[in-house]
Amino acid sequence: MAAYDNLTLSRDDNDLLWLDLDVKGRSANVLGIEVLDEIERACDEIRASGARGLVIHSSKPSGFVAGADINHFREVNNEAQALEFIERGQRIFQAYEDLAMPTLVIVRGFCLGGGLEWALACDYRIACNDAKTKIGLPEVKLGIHPGFGGSVRAIRLVGVLAAMNLMLAGRTINGHQAKRMGLVDENLPERSLRNAAVAILSRRPPRREPKKYLQLLEAAPLHPLVAKMLRREVAKKASEKHYPAPYALIDVWERHGSRDHAMFAAEARSVARLIVGQTAQNLVRVFFLQERLKGLGDRKLFQPRHVHVIGAGVMGGDIAAWCVMQGMRVTLQDNSDEALARAVSRASGHFGKRYRRDRHARRDALDRLIPDRNGLGVKKADLIIEAVFENLEVKQSIFTQLEQQARDDAILATNTSSIPLDEIAQVMTRPERLVGLHFFNPVIKMPLVEVVFDADITSDEARARAAAATRHLNKLPLPVRSAPGFLVNRILMPYLMEAVKCYEEGIPAVVIDKAATDYGMPMGPLALADTVGLDICQHVGRILAEKLGLELPDTLDRMVEKGWLGKKSGQGFYVYKGGKPTPREKPDWDGDRHALQRRLIERIVDEARRCLKEGIVADGDLLDAGLIFGTGYAPFRGGLKLE
Ligand code: NAD
Repeated sequence: MAAYDNLTLSRDDNDLLWLDLDVKGRSANVLGIEVLDEIERACDEIRASGARGLVIHSSKPSGFVAGADINHFREVNNEAQALEFIERGQRIFQAYEDLAMPTLVIVRGFCLGGGLEWALACDYRIACNDAKTKIGLPEVKLGIHPGFGGSVRAIRLVGVLAAMNLMLAGRTINGHQAKRMGLVDENLPERSLRNAAVAILSRRPPRREPKKYLQLLEAAPLHPLVAKMLRREVAKKASEKHYPAPYALIDVWERHGSRDHAMFAAEARSVARLIVGQTAQNLVRVFFLQERLKGLGDRKLFQPRHVHVIGAGVMGGDIAAWCVMQGMRVTLQDNSDEALARAVSRASGHFGKRYRRDRHARRDALDRLIPDRNGLGVKKADLIIEAVFENLEVKQSIFTQLEQQARDDAILATNTSSIPLDEIAQVMTRPERLVGLHFFNPVIKMPLVEVVFDADITSDEARARAAAATRHLNKLPLPVRSAPGFLVNRILMPYLMEAVKCYEEGIPAVVIDKAATDYGMPMGPLALADTVGLDICQHVGRILAEKLGLELPDTLDRMVEKGWLGKKSGQGFYVYKGGKPTPREKPDWDGDRHALQRRLIERIVDEARRCLKEGIVADGDLLDAGLIFGTGYAPFRGGLKLE
């Protein structure tokens, strides 16, 4: 067999060929140009081998294929160049489909994007039933859709509804779900995969087809109807103007869905067009920003196994639950039994959702969460996160005690959102240990953690270990200087206050919020204020107002005085019934909506400029990462790109 850098081909006693993909120098297999070249060359050798069958798999621990090499997306300069690359990929996978011998892919670990497209070009797929196996076509998340024939083959295999359901949302599924959908033939434990592969290739069962009634939907006259329904579903989540890829995929299918040949060509043209477009380029930028944040925490430096959380409120309770879900043992301390009970009950709800089908995992998670009224866990923990009331004296007294009781090598972190580290550190004998780990609410959903440091106090070691811990918590660490509001709240607050001012000027809340969501924000500023809690906005707003000279609108004080605290009290800028908002005012306003949008967004841009000038984060890319992962700022815009 020929020599390859990124794969090996071998022949077994059953006269089957085994292609083992192991891209050199990468922890996960990604399909770059060189790898595709070798996959193509291997196909020629396979065809000429006269073997009885082919098994494609990977012995890499991370699994089969994580997708195409996204670095390549940035190198594509024009549509023609993109088209050439995509058509080449299509030809390579077509060559596998055309092999006369039966072909099978073992899907273990990641099988995403181009990896699944390759697997779809083979006759059979068997999946591993472990928790690491993730199968999907998540291309829309990068502003494109499958281009190597994946959309044609996925639809052919499982029918348009299931395939579109997977592709339009970029969902990933496990082996069990893939089997149910018909995307894989078997879902088996890892130890049985090789034998099953051999057995299937000897037996050669008939290939799967979608159920007959689903095939009816593929009839050309029904395409417009189905396409309309799909577009309506997509529109609930993303607008065509901002996220064109899912709409483009529906268009391709509507026009060419019943003719494979034409659909392959249309699929390639569509992806070539999308890939050079603004949205895809920006989403690729967001992908790399995320990679950069991941790279800021070196997992090898420090691995927390026992986390002690002090304060079992909204934040502490959820931080504890989250740490448990990352496999850690957590002691949760609070001086109120009710708070502890509430936190455990909320955590149990999170575990129930996370491990819906796995009773044992649920029980193990609950076992790892230990209510600890007297703080006995402090002595043993390697990571201690304080999340009590936002009160300096209380926090100071906690850190005084922690210094006496905690292990010398434990990380001491505070989740404060507004108290500067140096004020807490005043009472400490070794203040260089103190860092901020600023989580966002809701902890379970928000991917970012600001790793707060004071350049004059915090040691480099403490910063690096805190960033490493953040990675083990599966969050994205953003190093920020200890300054009022850090980065995310500092940028959000002036924008929220500007929105409140607009409201004071008589602009209806829905109109203000729509200006922001039309721009691409995930939620309008007033709905966000209601969700965060108007008392919390007032509190953080006051601190920032004092330190940054921000003007606080009276309306907020008046609302809080009346007990209107937003969603949690049922009254705020909206009225809440069963958790659902209804507007207070009619959406009538004849002002300039574009100017309103500019006014709101300019507050974000102005404050961001100031943060950059003051060195709150190291550079414009990190600022954008904070904005996007901390506030949900319109990902398709790729951030502010300030220099
Ligand atoms: P919370 O009021 O919901 O919870 C605070 C908890 O701390 C209470 O259960 C209280 O009983 C407990 N507590 C107070 N003093 C204690 C002590 N000495 N020992 C043990 N437990 C004690 O508050 P929260 O909203 O969870 O906020 C906690 C921290 O997180 C604050 O510093 C806040 O600024 C920060 N924060 C809050 C948010 C948010 O959106 N709520 C977001 C990021 C950071």
